Amino acid sequence: MRTDKTDILTMLRNSGDYVSGQQLCDRFGVTRTAIWKVINQLKEEGYRIESVSGRGYRLAEGPGDFLSQSEIASRLTTKWAGCKVYYYDETGSTNNDAKRLGEEGAPHGTVVVADVQNAGKGRRGRGWQTLSGTALSFTILLRPEFAPDKASMITLVMALSVAEAVESVLEGAQDAVTTIKWPNDIVLNKKKICGMLTEMTMTPEMDEIQYIVVGAGTNVNNASPEEFQEEIRKTATSLRIETGRQIDRADLLERILLRFEDNYDVFLETLDMSGLREAYQKHLQGIGGVVRVLDPAGEYTGISRGINERGELLVEKEDGEVVRVYAGEVSVRGLYGYV
Ligand code: ATP
Repeated sequence: MRTDKTDILTMLRNSGDYVSGQQLCDRFGVTRTAIWKVINQLKEEGYRIESVSGRGYRLAEGPGDFLSQSEIASRLTTKWAGCKVYYYDETGSTNNDAKRLGEEGAPHGTVVVADVQNAGKGRRGRGWQTLSGTALSFTILLRPEFAPDKASMITLVMALSVAEAVESVLEGAQDAVTTIKWPNDIVLNKKKICGMLTEMTMTPEMDEIQYIVVGAGTNVNNASPEEFQEEIRKTATSLRIETGRQIDRADLLERILLRFEDNYDVFLETLDMSGLREAYQKHLQGIGGVVRVLDPAGEYTGISRGINERGELLVEKEDGEVVRVYAGEVSVRGLYGYV
């Protein structure tokens, strides 16, 4: 999936200085005209590229918050997460795209990104809203070798990675508190900025995981709460609404994938959350406080005691019984509101 455009952009970006047209021709085995065409395309997309005769081309400035296959792929410094990048201006659901690619044999680490998902999916058949130019919606395809019963923890690994990446992007933003609402919603100042959906496909023999897709949708540059549909206006927010900052979504994706690679390695060491539990719990919303567990079998309240090594939420009921809440069908709320 690497294109000449991605390669040329990567080379300009990494060099930070002038790169001669001849160097680019030699490196990629294309003509000067081909290089010139790509440079013009990049300029049209908003990259400021200086060209000086005798010296070549220099990337003076990027286009700001901008998503494209080349922009994303040329930035990634990850080892395997994003080894292949597919980008769509609009798609149904990046999870569905990743599953299709999974069927077609796409490798572990393939990432699908879209500006708009017109049929974004949440858990239990619920929807996920995105508005053009504001959200970071992506899915990563994994081909793990572990047993299927470990898969539900991957969603916690991604939640931690998104929370850490968001925190690093917002560094210095006063009063921006990033937490995780168990198991995998990311919450900024008590409102939801990110939802996730993990889906697993088994091999035809049903004995091994064929692939897992982990999708995350983050509200990044929505300028005001009015941009969200009425029914989620009270519980949803964006990074920009909370901090006043316009965030570069390709940069945020890069940070998430870097954190995910590291956290995934730690997870693989023990195939459970024991190595990540402390970091996860540092972000866990409502620990030590009363939570409402919305279990389809009956709602109950109790005190959140954090997670165990399997990523289950421990909820201590009034009679002292500690319930291990399994992520599958359950949502957790604060006593009086969303968190
Ligand atoms: P919870 O119901 O506790 O938010 P969940 O994990 O069950 O968590 P998800 O599957 O993550 O929910 O997300 C789906 C829900 O998120 C939708 O039903 C809707 O209430 C809400 N939602 C949809 N789009 C957005 C958005 N862009 N920002 C914030 N919330 C959204």
